[in-house]
Amino acid sequence: MSVRRGTNLDRVGGFNDAVVLDAIRRSEQLSRVELAEATGLSGQAISNIARRLLDAGLVREAGRLRGVGLGKPRTLLELEPTGQYAVGVHLDPSVVTVVLLDLTGEVVARRPVDQYADDPDVLIDGIAKTIEEVIAASGAPRDRVTGVGIAAPGPIDVERGVVVDPPNLSAWHLVPLRDELRERTGLPIVLDKDVTAAASAEKWAGQGGSFLFFYLGTGVGAGLVIGDEIVRGSSSNVGEIGHVIVDPDGPVCYCGRRGCVGETSQPRYLVQQAVAAGVLAQGIDIEDRPAVDAAFAQLCASAADGPGAAREIIVALAWRIAKVVEDVANLLDLERVVFGGPHWEQLAPVLGDAVRDALDDRFLVRAVHPFEVAGTALGQDVGAIGAASLVLDQTFSPNPSLLLQSTAVVAER
Ligand SMILES: [Zn+2]
Repeated sequence: MSVRRGTNLDRVGGFNDAVVLDAIRRSEQLSRVELAEATGLSGQAISNIARRLLDAGLVREAGRLRGVGLGKPRTLLELEPTGQYAVGVHLDPSVVTVVLLDLTGEVVARRPVDQYADDPDVLIDGIAKTIEEVIAASGAPRDRVTGVGIAAPGPIDVERGVVVDPPNLSAWHLVPLRDELRERTGLPIVLDKDVTAAASAEKWAGQGGSFLFFYLGTGVGAGLVIGDEIVRGSSSNVGEIGHVIVDPDGPVCYCGRRGCVGETSQPRYLVQQAVAAGVLAQGIDIEDRPAVDAAFAQLCASAADGPGAAREIIVALAWRIAKVVEDVANLLDLERVVFGGPHWEQLAPVLGDAVRDALDDRFLVRAVHPFEVAGTALGQDVGAIGAASLVLDQTFSPNPSLLLQSTAVVAER
């Protein structure tokens, strides 16, 4: 990842502070001299910014680096983990998870919402209560918690902070989640799509560049990062890939068409295929979620055991997914796909390699540069971690609009 450059124009303190903080975050530890080199800011500017960040408790001194010459030893700066905290909430139709991250992006506390309910009011009460519990359990001072990020299934109305019509949450229709939660917690709230949050988490974990986050959950969706920047589209509803048709003879999707990649990736469908192929016993109630989950686990285990009908079902799934990945990757010249979401972990042992094989056969851009197939290192909490990272992102992202404002602002920071 490339370090952002600062500007030596006057009165752009906010912009440059973020540039310097971001440079420190990416390198973990940097001296003032290295910071000046990395950001293009003058030594004097770096001195002033470092002083400000130290006073604000956002960075700390981390020992000295002895140079090779006779110069003075250089003091290293690193992020102060306790300088800031952010809450992340992942609203998933099956489980709602709350995490608290410190300034370095480490999870310092996590907890699922106990009061799970379809009723929005009851669930939002439960989320607010769990947020307070997570903050209390972490020991973080509440005034250092800068906000709450929410990762929600699309479609969402970001401007109004509204969850529009999430699949599998039947009582949720136009729920003003952002304002409701702000009222209950008194904290600033950011609402974004679950897949965008997951892509943000992946970017934070050090995997920048240009990639697609392929989310395998109750629905499938894609988060996009291009050139280290999260892509949101015109209404923050980027990544609706679930209804790309990958099998014209496939099952009927709720959208009314046949063979959508989302529908053919669901455990429900894969279990039905396994029953038809004789891999699983007859008589599984396809509407009974725990029964389907158990059968799905059995199918994944059989597929991982070795060649056979179970493995063929997962390999066929890999080919359907690869078709979508290929099109998106070729269209946007991506270098990586990262898989995650609740169904990924069980599928991973077979699906990862199978997608790689499928892409080997068909991937165009691969002729020019390597294309990587990876699984998230962040596990089940990737959505919640990503939601919190959206809040932290605001601290580290030099907002170019600050540069424009600065020409009109007279007061020196
Ligand atoms: Zn569909």
